[in-house]
Amino acid sequence: MKRIYLAFSCLFVLTLQAQDDKRCATDQAMANYYKKHPGSEEKRKQHDQQLINDLKSKLSSVGSYTIPVVFHILHQGGPENISDAQVIDGLNILNRDFAHLNPDTVDIIPSMKPLGDSSGIHFALATRDTNGNCTSGIIHYYDTDTDWDDSSPTIYQHGWNSTKYLNVYIVKRIILSGGFSAAGYTYFPGSWPDGHPADAIVVLNNYFGSIGTGNAFLSRVLTHEVGHWLDLYHVFGNNGAGVDCTGDDQVSDTPQTIGYTICPDKNNPAEYQTCNTGIDENFQNYMDYSYCVRMFTMGQNARMVAALNSSLSLRNNLWTNANLIATGVLNPVSPCIPVADFKANRTQTCVGVPVTFSDASWKGTPTSYTWSFPGGNPATSNVASPVVTYTAVGQYSVSYTCANSAGTATPITKANFITVVSGAPTYTSSAFSEDFESLPLPNIDWDVENSSGGAFWEQSADAPYTGIYSAKLPSVNNTRLAVSSMISPSVDIHWSGQLYLSFMLAAAESNPDHVNTLKVYISTDCKQTWTEIYSKTGAALITTTNTSTPFIPSLSEWRSEFIYLIPFSGNPSANFKFTYIRDTIPSPNNTFIDNINISYQVGVSQLEHESSFSIFPNPSTGIFHIAFDLNDSHKTEINLRDILGRTLECKPTEYLPAGKYSYSLGSVENLKRGIYFVDLVIDEKKITRKLIIE
Ligand SMILES: [Zn+2]
Repeated sequence: MKRIYLAFSCLFVLTLQAQDDKRCATDQAMANYYKKHPGSEEKRKQHDQQLINDLKSKLSSVGSYTIPVVFHILHQGGPENISDAQVIDGLNILNRDFAHLNPDTVDIIPSMKPLGDSSGIHFALATRDTNGNCTSGIIHYYDTDTDWDDSSPTIYQHGWNSTKYLNVYIVKRIILSGGFSAAGYTYFPGSWPDGHPADAIVVLNNYFGSIGTGNAFLSRVLTHEVGHWLDLYHVFGNNGAGVDCTGDDQVSDTPQTIGYTICPDKNNPAEYQTCNTGIDENFQNYMDYSYCVRMFTMGQNARMVAALNSSLSLRNNLWTNANLIATGVLNPVSPCIPVADFKANRTQTCVGVPVTFSDASWKGTPTSYTWSFPGGNPATSNVASPVVTYTAVGQYSVSYTCANSAGTATPITKANFITVVSGAPTYTSSAFSEDFESLPLPNIDWDVENSSGGAFWEQSADAPYTGIYSAKLPSVNNTRLAVSSMISPSVDIHWSGQLYLSFMLAAAESNPDHVNTLKVYISTDCKQTWTEIYSKTGAALITTTNTSTPFIPSLSEWRSEFIYLIPFSGNPSANFKFTYIRDTIPSPNNTFIDNINISYQVGVSQLEHESSFSIFPNPSTGIFHIAFDLNDSHKTEINLRDILGRTLECKPTEYLPAGKYSYSLGSVENLKRGIYFVDLVIDEKKITRKLIIE
């Protein structure tokens, strides 16, 4: 009992940490469905019993099945409008996994390896739509339902007859009633009337495919959801992963399992023998939550094949010869006339700074291109990726069409697509500062970006260094390999002399294995090119001890960071980009930035204060001394704090002239052994040193 108790509590903690990886919400969707449809849960149980009886005599009934599939990409013009190449990559991963041809089968633990096998099920893009017309099987829609909320009545409006096609929606966000945020979900066959549009799969764009917004670590969500769509339960049943061992997936060859929300160490069986000592659990099964999934078992394959042979939701129609002909899998039609669309490497630029446009058409591959750039130079173009500059401030529309051997696309115009600004700095003061107090991010000054649907920098009241707010990169939604940036307004840096950027940073990880990185870049050419001026990773990045709970820094857990900008001073304008680069290890923690300053003379003395500030002896047995230099007159304050942030001793604010200073502290409080902090506050800027009392 003791061993199990320990394992449970460990998993509980890890579940809390692992919130950065979203999960499947099929169980939640089905629970909502059962609630709304009285008797449906009982019907499903009866179906399961029937299936088990049928399967007893047919465990080897694996055959060869092809299923037509159509992808509906819902987007609002952002990175969630993934490329057709990413869709095809995602489809290839699905087919590879269902054929058991994934190279990572070598990682499957020995006891489970013999159970893994090809399902004999293959998925092919439709080339004919429901009317028999040409399609690429990948449809892009500008649709606010990319913020997928299952209470919206229009979410499934694009669905094609689900008895003929597997419909997969690719979206930006998935929220189920109750606020559950998911990576994907679907319904079990037989839930909806035959052909119902909700008989479909929904997947987040950044949990799909391994290129574009996707990445290999999160690319198996569609494999998992298709498992559900073909009647597979989670290997841990429907009572949640990591909860207990009572759940069952109705498949005879998958071991009893608790379900894993993190990947156990495959070389340490104790980590995956939670339910029964000595009996391995199949944590590498596609229907687990471990994000190190590698296989379906033969029993699961048999259950999926049984679903394909059943009249539930007419799954048995999908792979018939007649349907493969109707959907263009067997008699493909190609090419289709393209649907014109385009994108640009930037939609805001400066006078004279080039914009590169590119074709983003779909349905058919274009072979010719016709562009119109009123107000731009050139004003027209016939190349695939024209480069255009603008000579005057303003907003400019762009028109485009394209063609191939099948015909010419309907032309499109995007009004006021390009905004051209002068390039003069937004902030001309010699001292720029940002304390994130006035406006939520993003705002008129600060832009935020994310390369792969992960977390965004946000204004947060969780832990300001000063004031009420700071900028936070939350661990929630901080997807693996995501790159999250916040970009400053343009600042005048033409001032000669000692120029530097400073900011306050608070960072901790959930465990020391992390190698997350914060970088700062500068651009002096209207954000065309960026030069790295700061980079800290892993142990160098964190500002305090790691914690397994969500990191909310106390004041002593912030660190001041300084970056010399002397090589860049003299440029009329600069932008700064703060970029957090997420590693591939599960469970990052929160990161905070506050009080970004660009300073001149005052900064130099700040740097000197920083380097001159010392504590000795440290460690100390009680009484200790601090020393610092002032090169000018400054408002100065000193505080001694304990680890809870309580001030134990302070030297109140006073103006001190230039000179060398030293003070003795530690006598008024009987300091116990432990860690303390000493703040030297000079002109509202705080420098903190750690003190150890032995
Ligand atoms: Zn699931």
